[in-house]
Amino acid sequence: MKNMALDRLWLVRPASFPSADASARASGAADLLHSARVCGSLAEALEGCGFVVGASARQRSLAWPTQTPRECAGKIVEEAASGEVAVVFGRESSGLKNEELQRCHAHVQIPTNPEYSSLNLAMAVQVIAYEIMVASGGSRLAIRSRETPLATADEVELFFQHLERVLVGASFLDPSNPRHLMMRLRRLFGRAELDRNEIAILRGILAALVPGSGKPPGNDVEEETQ
Ligand code: SAH
Repeated sequence: MKNMALDRLWLVRPASFPSADASARASGAADLLHSARVCGSLAEALEGCGFVVGASARQRSLAWPTQTPRECAGKIVEEAASGEVAVVFGRESSGLKNEELQRCHAHVQIPTNPEYSSLNLAMAVQVIAYEIMVASGGSRLAIRSRETPLATADEVELFFQHLERVLVGASFLDPSNPRHLMMRLRRLFGRAELDRNEIAILRGILAALVPGSGKPPGNDVEEETQ
């Protein structure tokens, strides 16, 4: 729950709580366990709640609106904007009872192998909590800025001109029959998204291999790459 930015855990008649085992497993998330609310019944846990979804592995005889985690996560996030929402999970051994499922507006079922559909409780919580986080827009990874800016278009162009001169000079490239070589090399280096240091290194290599073939930009290469 804490990984997925959820922090309100309600436990209905837990077999053992506080539990040394649970605390040991909740490494770094003990705060969430400490703030868990213990209730005597599901009705008490759901007091004041608006939208309620029950997680169940099995299609029951009762027909109830049933969605995948992805389908219902959007609704959960939407309803959470205007009231309390709850996702109810069942016992590890026997799941949710029909009367418990009937307290829910909708059911959520994680698609699985039909021959083996029941996940461990923690796994089921994780899948649904993940979808809620994605639906709430929290799934974007922090954007890391580049250590070195990308080479500019003109720097890249000068590199290709330099490379072409060296390849022609080495008779690897025949200007009368170029056979798309430069186009293929442009595509190859384009995939590498060369930054300014890398372009400087490549130009430095060309200049070192063929002195006088071109002036390496050299002076703006950062120290560790020289
Ligand atoms: N033997 C129980 C399984 C309980 S698993 C049964 O057949 O009902 C513990 C809880 O994890 C379930 O009550 C449910 O809330 C959740 N869960 C497990 N698998 C799930 C699935 N495929 N879809 C939705 N919830 C699931």
